[in-house]
Amino acid sequence: MNKNYTSTRNEKINISAKEAIKKGFADDGGLFVYPELSKLKVDLASMQNFTYQQTAQIILEKLLPDFSTAEIKDGITNAYNDSFDTKEITPLVKVDDFHVLELFHGPTSAFKDIGLQMLPQLMKRVLKKDNRVMILTATSGDTGKAALEGFKNLDQTAITVFYPHNGVSKVQQLQMETTSGNNTEITAIKGNFDDAQSNVKKIFNNQALRQKLGTNISLSSANSINIGRLIPQVVYYFDAYFQLIKQNQIKLGQKVNFTVPTGNFGDVLAGFYAKQMGLPVNKFVVASNANNVLTKFFKTGIYNRNIPFLQTDAPSMDIQISSNFERLLYYKSHEDTNYVQKLMAELEQTGSYQVSEPVLRNIRADFYCGFATDQEIESTINNVYQQAGYLMDPHTAVGYKVMRDYQANDPDTPMILLSTASPYKFVHVVTKAVLGENFENDQVAMQQLQKFTRLPIPQNLAQVWDLPILHQDVIDQTKMTEYVLQKVEANFNDKN
Ligand SMILES: *Cc1c(COP(=O)(O)O)cnc(C)c1O
Repeated sequence: MNKNYTSTRNEKINISAKEAIKKGFADDGGLFVYPELSKLKVDLASMQNFTYQQTAQIILEKLLPDFSTAEIKDGITNAYNDSFDTKEITPLVKVDDFHVLELFHGPTSAFKDIGLQMLPQLMKRVLKKDNRVMILTATSGDTGKAALEGFKNLDQTAITVFYPHNGVSKVQQLQMETTSGNNTEITAIKGNFDDAQSNVKKIFNNQALRQKLGTNISLSSANSINIGRLIPQVVYYFDAYFQLIKQNQIKLGQKVNFTVPTGNFGDVLAGFYAKQMGLPVNKFVVASNANNVLTKFFKTGIYNRNIPFLQTDAPSMDIQISSNFERLLYYKSHEDTNYVQKLMAELEQTGSYQVSEPVLRNIRADFYCGFATDQEIESTINNVYQQAGYLMDPHTAVGYKVMRDYQANDPDTPMILLSTASPYKFVHVVTKAVLGENFENDQVAMQQLQKFTRLPIPQNLAQVWDLPILHQDVIDQTKMTEYVLQKVEANFNDKN
């Protein structure tokens, strides 16, 4: 068995990709990582005319070496097909003097679909006959629905989603509440996304609970802490690069920049993986909303989450603990797991840590970081629409603002801005920005925006208003463990 993965907090752990996907994260609280990524270089020249699916085959085989070629091929066929509304899967669109990589053409209209259409395909091939797995997901809005759509009705699995009560958009909430399927559980919690995420982590580390569940029932995660969700995202960085070549915008080998709207640091970390594997990237521009813990880190080397949590117009990025940043610390400290372990213990105990000067320098070599306020989000959406005729969602607008800040010092490197959601998913903010109107009713706002811009509404969003509400739980955040136990029983009872 290929035991290629280790833990960010303990290099003595060796585990296969399959086991890592099944577990979600390591018993020591760390995240699974592939050491020495630069040994996985791909041959760009031979891939430049590949389809999305062909590129995915190469990348996934490299990073998931214990899956067979046939398993990966079959998974890709099931994940990336006409459940996306474009055959390019992630089309690259030229706007003004930059390029937008549209990641929102999947079944729930957010970029999470790219990872979460694939993760269930991988999970399916990891489970033995008697295994049952409960997928636990903390969501700031988009992961929840994308994970539900991915795992809905998948044999041997059930999924429980926790989202912050009053912390997601109306459309996001309805998307989740109307989910069908015989294995889907959804509840709001009284708390914010960080509360949901840290409680889910506690549930994972609850050994008494694990014992109670027995050997055949396990817990796993659909968040980007799971490598099965993170690794499929590496693919579109390569695919975007090949699209730029096909569009005669760059020559093979030329360096590009990527700007990535960032919350949990999963998306942009996938880009870093691509760079380690040989993609010619100059800088990754990391863009946060007013929850700007990362921007301050880039200035000072101090990661400090002891500041008020803000609800912003880009709610899927309302996050103060960027989980995947731990993986970056691992790579940027020369894979020093003792060092990472020490920093993470400090974060847990005091809410902050400071990295050494060399580690900070290593991070700055690949990344630039900035943030945008709600006001800047709205003016950006309006300005880009008026000037370039391109309609952006609020998260993409955060990216645009920080991209322009960065370009003051690097105007010439070709730039790809990742667009992470359909503007219709956050229709309240977008209509306010473009039409100057505060609609009470998001369904009306959607229709008005469509009338004004002529941009088609994705089918899954157009129909969400008419579906029956099937889930309406709201629980205290102290009750999450109990809730999971109940739902495990409800879903797997007959198989115990
Ligand atoms: C999840 C999400 C992000 C942030 O991605 P991370 O991988 O958490 O950094 C940005 N935009 C949208 C629309 C999202 O759903």
